Amino acid sequence: MPIDEVSIVRMCGACRSEIETITVKKDNMRLFTDDAVWCEGCQCDQPEVRDIAGRHASIQAEQQNYPESPTSGPPQLVR
Ligand SMILES: [Zn+2]
Repeated sequence: MPIDEVSIVRMCGACRSEIETITVKKDNMRLFTDDAVWCEGCQCDQPEVRDIAGRHASIQAEQQNYPESPTSGPPQLVR
């Protein structure tokens, strides 16, 4: 996926079930919208909420990049 595009998950504002995932240019990204969306679960129109897809996965990947803390404790200065 090009770096200038981002995946957005459209969700029902009431039950948070995922409706669809869309890919948009970052420049056109809108996380806040007044749109109503048809929710299969609620069987009615609900306010749409959006979130960035894979946000949690990317956070986990970043955390895994941190070096593991040494099990031997802080380095000891030997004089
Ligand atoms: Zn719903």
